[in-house]
Amino acid sequence: MKYTVITGASSGIGYEAALAFAGRGKNMILAARRTDELDKLKAKVAEINPDLDVAIRTVDLSIAANVHEFYESLQPYAIETWINNAGFGNFASVGEQHLPKIEQMLHLNIEALTILSSLYVRDYADVDGTQIINISSGGGYTIVADAVTYCATKFYVSAFTEGLAQELKGKNAAMQAKVLAPAATETEFAKHSFNVDEFEYEGRVPKFHTAEQMAGFLLELYDSESVVGIVDGLTYDFELREPIFPYAARAASKPKNQPEN
Ligand code: NAP
Repeated sequence: MKYTVITGASSGIGYEAALAFAGRGKNMILAARRTDELDKLKAKVAEINPDLDVAIRTVDLSIAANVHEFYESLQPYAIETWINNAGFGNFASVGEQHLPKIEQMLHLNIEALTILSSLYVRDYADVDGTQIINISSGGGYTIVADAVTYCATKFYVSAFTEGLAQELKGKNAAMQAKVLAPAATETEFAKHSFNVDEFEYEGRVPKFHTAEQMAGFLLELYDSESVVGIVDGLTYDFELREPIFPYAARAASKPKNQPEN
């Protein structure tokens, strides 16, 4: 049995992605901090396809030790697709940022994603049909005012994932690495970014996609051979593209007798 891992599956894009992958007949491992929401999602997946196996992991991925423990707990599973979706934003000018929130954001958006990507690539790069999809943002290609630090985390996600895709292709690895870059999407994202209890997208955000639409774009990227799936920030069209950042293949090889680190 093969499994799709989705982090941040308890709401928004991750939640809808789980329903979309259920429609594709995929067994899943769904992770987030809110067990209740994951249980409800599991019940909904069972309505779509009662034959699917769904495992739930309640985990705070902003703590590195949890991230390693989470990955280790998945050893019994054969993982076909890994989706690093858990992440959050923050709207504030740099000098006014609440640093504990920023530190948590760096741990989740950058550190957890890097650890999980690295472990998955280490174990599965040569397994046919495997994919890793990391969720970046339009803000991972364009710096957005009052979201500089969040955007910088997403520039990291885009650069890391595009670079990984280049590296895997350079090695003729079986695994494909891809990056999804949504623009505004109606989820709990704005609530957490603005630190408010409620946020109404309709009337406040000029253009946005629903999380269900974004999950549809995620499937388009999943089905494609492209590395980047990005929403155009002006037209809101979804485009499949080749890597966007420049990439320099390494000219020199490692000197002989240099120990492996
Ligand atoms: P969302 O509804 O807030 O979902 C975020 C998910 O991440 C939730 O399931 C949340 O679950 C989980 N999460 C947050 N902190 C976590 C932690 N410490 N450990 C484990 N899981 C955690 O927002 P979303 O829009 O769907 O966000 C999904 C991804 O899309 C994020 O990476 C975000 O940066 C990106 N994105 C969103 C937009 C947008 O406009 N919505 C645009 C571009 C990119 P728990 O709270 O239960 O842990």
